[in-house]
Amino acid sequence: MPPTYRAAVLPAPGEPLRVVEVPAPVLQPGAALLRTLFSEVCGTDVHLAHGRLAGVPYPIIPGHVSVGVIAELRGPVRDVDGAPFREGDVAAFLDVHETCGACRACLVDKETTRCPHRKVYGITYGLADGLLGGWAEAIHLRPGVKLLRLPHGLSPETYIGGGCGLNTAFHAVERASIRLGDAVVVLGAGPVAQSVAAFAALSGASLVVAVGAPDDRLAMIRQMGADETLSIDRLSPEERLERVYALTARRGADVVIEAAGVPEAVVQGAALCRDGGTLVVAGQYTDNGPAVWNVHELLNRKHLTVKGCWGSDFSHFYKSIRLQARWQDRFPWSAIVTRRFGLDAANDALAAVERREVLKAAIDPSLGPTAASGAAGGERAADPQG
Ligand SMILES: [Zn+2]
Ligand SMILES: [Zn+2]
Repeated sequence: MPPTYRAAVLPAPGEPLRVVEVPAPVLQPGAALLRTLFSEVCGTDVHLAHGRLAGVPYPIIPGHVSVGVIAELRGPVRDVDGAPFREGDVAAFLDVHETCGACRACLVDKETTRCPHRKVYGITYGLADGLLGGWAEAIHLRPGVKLLRLPHGLSPETYIGGGCGLNTAFHAVERASIRLGDAVVVLGAGPVAQSVAAFAALSGASLVVAVGAPDDRLAMIRQMGADETLSIDRLSPEERLERVYALTARRGADVVIEAAGVPEAVVQGAALCRDGGTLVVAGQYTDNGPAVWNVHELLNRKHLTVKGCWGSDFSHFYKSIRLQARWQDRFPWSAIVTRRFGLDAANDALAAVERREVLKAAIDPSLGPTAASGAAGGERAADPQG
């Protein structure tokens, strides 16, 4: 009998997860088996549970960003600098796999996050493909998966506190081309926004303003680099605009990065930009419908630069982890995971994220059915810009 590993499986949209035993994979040359330490629960997983993402081959094992210990390696697997991985290394991996390097998006347009062949662990691989999601005791890293050893001094707990928000935020800040001294507004206070604030501060922003809710998330984002926070619970859009104008000599922000997830936030972001400013849209990962805006006033006459931001590539993964290792004492990424759940409590984890009872949840397969550790975040029912 080959060994099996426990995995939390989402059978179909709207159905609860259940734990099943999945056979161990047969490792091809270049493959590895990772014993999962932590896997992340993020907003994307809530969208998966509700069937709000296209191209998902249910049933699936969710969990796209994970970290673990290399338990088994088949043949030499090397890192980007040529150093071989060894069994026992603590490693993370880029959840995007099979970016083809041969299509128009990859070769001509050089927009690899739009490669139509890319597959994502825990999202576009299904249970039929095997242990290709992180909410499991082990993860099959197929040949070609880009592994990264955690830098010395960076713990798995701290890494997963950044999680997929780390890559996404790094990419968004890169797209924003922040210059020394810029005034930056981040819309949102969820995990992506938390890392956006940190990377904006590291990019040399002279002012970082975060706009969101609830208060515990705003308190956290102040620790993560925001100088000022504006509560969407207490201030109207007009009052927030006035506050940003008061903070920027009545010009508006040089850069606004939207990580809120509601279409209206994009319009508000345009209003918060100065003339000739830059707006990066990084929070619209599911289709929440259109936003209506006055494109004469807010776009054309404003001479605005607007950029979308989709997915991330290996460079974002590699560089953001190095920044996290370097600056973990300044920015408390480890405090972003506010509760851990075992595989049998995966439904509770999803519910906690959806209800925004936690800033971030992590799946820890070593925990038992009822175990959940770590302090809970603030309780709050509705948080449209979380
Ligand atoms: Zn391609
Ligand atoms: Zn995610």
